[in-house]
Amino acid sequence: MFIKSTNYIAGHTKLSQCPKDQRPEFAFLGRSNVGKSSLINMLCERNKLAKVSQTPGKTRLINYFLINENWYLIDLPGIGYAKVSKSQRADWEKMINSYLTQRKTLQVVFYLIDSRLKPQKNDLEFINWMGANHVPFVLVFTKADKPKPRELSQNIKTFKKTMLETWEDLPEIFITSANKKQGREEILNYIHSLLQEIVPEEN
Ligand code: GDP
Repeated sequence: MFIKSTNYIAGHTKLSQCPKDQRPEFAFLGRSNVGKSSLINMLCERNKLAKVSQTPGKTRLINYFLINENWYLIDLPGIGYAKVSKSQRADWEKMINSYLTQRKTLQVVFYLIDSRLKPQKNDLEFINWMGANHVPFVLVFTKADKPKPRELSQNIKTFKKTMLETWEDLPEIFITSANKKQGREEILNYIHSLLQEIVPEEN
């Protein structure tokens, strides 16, 4: 898919404020500092579209970007940043949970995982929560330029193995590097293929 236009529309704190135009939505989510802003910028070929955060976890909004006048890229706030209060975290969790479970136009969540790390308990917990709540998701291993190739494949292999302890099937998996522009075509083609499958609802 060719990205012709990207426009920041708005940041919302409530599901009720989100657009009502029924355009399909593709959401990006992961722990703070996972490389989400860098990935979004890389996908859209815009250096500062999503801010590469100086202070991790600062974004607290459901951010809407309109792509090609056709679909929304949703930048969700980073999960699990330690320096927020319990009540802030609870508010955020409520917002994200209602968005993920109730937003009818959400097509799929791109759940980002730092490829340098061994499987993290909170990533696995979040993934299991999405599964239990029927939230469709795929996995994106970020920063793939960082680990050595062997370590990268080992980390991904271990992640898959751990998931298969509780899951019957594995989701779609993408491997990306914002620095090397790796995985861009694959993700955009995947979004394109899902867009092709959407049959407009009759009024
Ligand atoms: P966010 O908090 O999830 O939005 O993460 P950012 O995009 O702000 O990235 C967090 C840090 O990881 C920054 O220092 C980025 O430069 C770095 N980073 C992000 N993506 C990559 C990548 O693909 N490769 C490498 N080597 N570093 C990355």
